[in-house]
Amino acid sequence: MKKIAFIGLGNMGGPMAANLLKAGFDVNVFDLVPAAIDSLVSQGAVAAATALEAATGVDAVVTMLPAGKHVKSLYIGSAGQQGLLDVIGKDTLLIDSSTIDAESAKFVAEAAAIKGVEFMDAPVSGGTAGAAAGTLTFICGGSDHAFERAQAVLNAMGANIFHAGSAGAGQVAKICNNMLLAVLMVGTSEALQLGRDHGLDAKVLSDIMKVSSGGNWTLEKYNPCPNVMESVPSSNDYQGGFMVDLMVKDLGLSQEAALLTNSSTPLGALARSMYVNHARKGNGSRDFSSIFEAFAKANNE
Ligand code: NAD
Repeated sequence: MKKIAFIGLGNMGGPMAANLLKAGFDVNVFDLVPAAIDSLVSQGAVAAATALEAATGVDAVVTMLPAGKHVKSLYIGSAGQQGLLDVIGKDTLLIDSSTIDAESAKFVAEAAAIKGVEFMDAPVSGGTAGAAAGTLTFICGGSDHAFERAQAVLNAMGANIFHAGSAGAGQVAKICNNMLLAVLMVGTSEALQLGRDHGLDAKVLSDIMKVSSGGNWTLEKYNPCPNVMESVPSSNDYQGGFMVDLMVKDLGLSQEAALLTNSSTPLGALARSMYVNHARKGNGSRDFSSIFEAFAKANNE
């Protein structure tokens, strides 16, 4: 595994492709935004004029795109246009790290299998900081063989590599995690504000809950109340981090998944509704911990 095509060089894909270069892979790059390609070329990548050109003659393709419709049309093609599956060799491993619906991931995996090609969904957790540091968690869905083959590529971009199950399983695990994260963030926010409304110091209350039965990741690593923790988005006017719009997308995916299996996810549904409302009030590009402001008083008291 030496030559890789990386397609989708945005906030996540750009630094991930850069880490492949640092690890010594030859990387062909393509994005719809020329500036994103230029930035990677200055780090040693080879520019391609199209996604199909980037993917021709490589050992593996990694994609990092916004949503399921982009992934489907890139791999399968649309409106008479060829997709990657029409040009890649049988030995090329396909890895999609976008967060998309599991049904689309399975659809592409089946279309690839018909052509004798291995496709794996490998969504990530760890955000833009993890992408830059090469410490992402990859959550993979696909065959044991594809998972084995992907190790060297994924290790160059991540610190934890999990095999969740067969095609689509990576996407299911990813949205289960993000649904739980949203529920924890909302619950932590309302508990902190209840304490503040009764005169408690948010830092003291956080220290108590962190080591008590309410302890959770948001209290340990990502406190939503401003100035309780340094170097987290809440202490920087909720800039950086994980955007509300992306959380809305992931909560939508978890609700779609729940409908498919008639699963009961009442807290996920409520969290989605709260985040949609929060986005509609102009918070879409702020960090998702800004949901704290739905509970705090106007001047954040
Ligand atoms: P982004 O919008 O910054 O990047 C997406 C890139 O894909 C853009 O540069 C866009 O031009 C490119 N693109 C779109 N269609 C294309 C096509 N047909 N061919 C080539 N390039 C194309 O988004 P991002 O933040 O990098 O997120 C990418 C994926 O990762 C999403 O599915 C997102 O949900 C997921 N994700 C993001 C984060 C995060 O913190 N940003 C964390 C985990 C997972």
